[in-house]
Amino acid sequence: MPKKRKEIFLKGVIAAPGVVQGRAFVLLEKDLDVSRYRVDPKEADKESERFREALSQTRQQIENRKAALISKLGEQEAQIFDAHLLVLEDQALIDETIEKQRKSGYNIEYCFHTVSNRYIEMLDQIEDEYLRERATDIRDVARRVLSYLMGNSGFSLEHFKDERVLVAKNLSPSDTAVIDKKRILAIVTDLGSRTSHAVIVARKISIPAVVGLHNITEKVDNGDPILVDGYTGVVIVHPSRATLDRYGKISAARESLQNVYDESLPLPAKSLDGRSFDLMANIEGREDIEAVRHTGAQGVGLFRTEALFLNRQHYPSEAEQFDVYREVAAALQPQPVIIRTLDLGGDKYANERGLISREDNPFMGLRGIRFCLKYKMLFKTQLRAILRASAFGHVGILYPMISGLDELLEANALLDEVKEELRQEKQAFSEEAAVGVMIEIPSAACIADILADHCTFFSIGTNDLIQYLMAVDRINDEVAQLYNPHHPAVLRTIKAVVDIAKQRGMPVNVCGEMAGDVFYLPLLFGLGTDSLSAVPRSLAQMKYWVRKMTMGNVVALAEQALEQKDAETVYALLKAYYYRQIGDLIEPNAALI
Ligand code: PEP
Ligand code: MG
Repeated sequence: MPKKRKEIFLKGVIAAPGVVQGRAFVLLEKDLDVSRYRVDPKEADKESERFREALSQTRQQIENRKAALISKLGEQEAQIFDAHLLVLEDQALIDETIEKQRKSGYNIEYCFHTVSNRYIEMLDQIEDEYLRERATDIRDVARRVLSYLMGNSGFSLEHFKDERVLVAKNLSPSDTAVIDKKRILAIVTDLGSRTSHAVIVARKISIPAVVGLHNITEKVDNGDPILVDGYTGVVIVHPSRATLDRYGKISAARESLQNVYDESLPLPAKSLDGRSFDLMANIEGREDIEAVRHTGAQGVGLFRTEALFLNRQHYPSEAEQFDVYREVAAALQPQPVIIRTLDLGGDKYANERGLISREDNPFMGLRGIRFCLKYKMLFKTQLRAILRASAFGHVGILYPMISGLDELLEANALLDEVKEELRQEKQAFSEEAAVGVMIEIPSAACIADILADHCTFFSIGTNDLIQYLMAVDRINDEVAQLYNPHHPAVLRTIKAVVDIAKQRGMPVNVCGEMAGDVFYLPLLFGLGTDSLSAVPRSLAQMKYWVRKMTMGNVVALAEQALEQKDAETVYALLKAYYYRQIGDLIEPNAALI
């Protein structure tokens, strides 16, 4: 009888929703075992020929992967392959390899391996982010060339036939290019965050994903049964019968709840006592326009623009950005589209290197508005594109990571400069475009009254606000249990910001993940928020919950929550409210939360 394996529970970063179970396929990038042997000097030309053939075959393989990624995700996402193709044309690398073969008399794979490793080591030592990325490109390409020379077809993602849960350290763009929804049930990785490439692909092709699991590749073997819960970020290896039964029930409950939620989509977001709320969408690009329309969202509360800058060689031009912003604004007008200026840094690094060097504490480093105020031309280019798009719809501008008044004044001064330039050039834009500040750093929350004099709205970014308020890295699973949206400090901070906005008659939105979680929705509206903005797929449930609440109830809930001394008690209060509201829809005690 096979030995029963112990269940292993792992908690990672929620990346793409859904629950699946299946067998694991562990993708490990093992170092190739390159052998060394002597080659007859008369065969030297043949060795060079073998090498050139390997380069040309690898080129073909990369071109194919590039084409696959273009058809899946579009031209922009596939630009990463251009760097790989450049490595194959690196004349110094090629010449040195051939010369080494002729001089040493060793086989060509050994010579290429030695030469490319020397390049990689050299580049790896360098501080400059751009050059270090070049090392990654060379490593990736060298692996492919060597695989070909040694008669391997490289790793086998393309080849396996059954459905598997893909388990990997991290997934590079070239790995994700071959991911096929029919065969990959879910993605789980050791590294990565919500914005890593694997996650973007998983969301787009609608398969569940959990990332940032640290060492799952060490805990899973090929073929192990594994359950992935992309809603809660939980991954269970060797799930027991009881766990599978429990998850079966949870999945069924989620599905039937979703059907009930979906019925609210065409209805207004109005509470039982007649108060209307704005439920808006968080988007990342033009490909989300349809989803926004489908959910009946009242516009876009947060257009994260980083995706336009990631996984490509060069930053997008003004024209390219303008094209995207204009298309979204025009498609959704007259509804508002709040475009957030670039928030690179933290866990979001672009490939155009050299601008952000490696940081020990990237979340506390050159991120968001700090980066933009350092690279003013880049910032002004984006502001020009956003402003020009404002002539085609109802566009607002939102600055991320504001920590003090100086930054806001400097950003506004650059915005004024850009407006003046556009006027001079007779380019159309809306003089009325609203300017908002993300409240996501505790210092900004503390001086919200001061910032309020220089902007027209606030948007509370709870993802970062919680991380900075509680000193809990938002992507570190070691401290995930401390990341509590229901901590009294979070509640008080939100309340303080909302109160200031109310005194000024300024709208205040919440756009972090907390906004899309209906567990917190009554609390946020009870605290006085005007609108919530979340990923489109959350809109149906949010609308259902708004339609179930009364202002009296949620204000009382928020008042009671504010009186509590610890996170646990607040959680218990919210949970009791949750089950009171939804109890008639689910089986008793179905553990949905
Ligand atoms: C936030 O911090 O809550 C937010 C919405 O921004 P991001 O998740 O992009 O940092
Ligand atoms: Mg943020």
